[in-house]
Amino acid sequence: MISIRDLHKVYRGRGRAVTALDGVSLDVAEGEIYGVLGRSGAGKSTLLRSVNLLERPDSGTVTVGGVELTALPERRLRRERQRIGMIHQHFALLSSRTVAGNVAFPLEVTGVPRAARAARVAELLELVGLEGRAGAYPAQLSGGQKQRVGIARALAGDPKVLLSDEATSALDPETTHSILGLLADLNKRLGLTILLITHEMDVVKRICHSAAIMRDGRFTESGRIAEVLARP
Ligand code: ADP
Ligand code: ADP
Repeated sequence: MISIRDLHKVYRGRGRAVTALDGVSLDVAEGEIYGVLGRSGAGKSTLLRSVNLLERPDSGTVTVGGVELTALPERRLRRERQRIGMIHQHFALLSSRTVAGNVAFPLEVTGVPRAARAARVAELLELVGLEGRAGAYPAQLSGGQKQRVGIARALAGDPKVLLSDEATSALDPETTHSILGLLADLNKRLGLTILLITHEMDVVKRICHSAAIMRDGRFTESGRIAEVLARP
């Protein structure tokens, strides 16, 4: 579902050059939960943002669902990007909009008619266990509820792939548990392919089928979870 070949990325600025990606290749099978584990600065975020080309790699290819995104012009890319959902550490919700308004936002952008939008929003809120909270504002929600809104919004366009950028790092252990449970459930029920980045081994252990360990812009280990965790 996701195929990445030999990605390189160097950030240049004020004389200093930082190598964020130093030849990363990755294959995530359809229906798989794949975790990339590493310390701060390892290059995880740059890698994740390369999958939907929010970040442009200097070289290498990114293919999602059989479409080589790195070969597309910007206009086509915007369309393909809507097929890839993303969730964030700090949720990235619009504070002036209700829960329903946040979830509806991507549907408005893509021109889904009002009635279809309302039906889809209700369906999504039920999917993430937030039925009854449609009219609340983000400030009235717990962290776990905010992330549920983030997940509902990410799934609005019925993507095949979900990218998770440290989605539980701002949450307490109990809430982390329930959000990871939701992601595992969505993976099973929808066949959703999930690529997540995290600095927490427990996250990888709990829900990932496969994993890679990232350090200095490279994978030092990768494979099925049992193999990766078994290595010293
Ligand atoms: P991680 O997500 O694992 O913390 P990042 O991908 O954010 O790693 O960063 C990898 C490296 O690239 C780090 O050294 C970071 O400081 C650097 N970096 C990230 N984004 C930028 C940027 N926009 N400009 C310059 N350097 C950056
Ligand atoms: P905002 O004021 O933040 O834009 P709206 O109340 O206009 O939010 O709602 C945005 C979208 O959510 C609309 O498509 C609307 O039909 C839908 N919506 C609003 N309230 C509900 C609800 N209780 N259940 C399901 N969908 C709703």
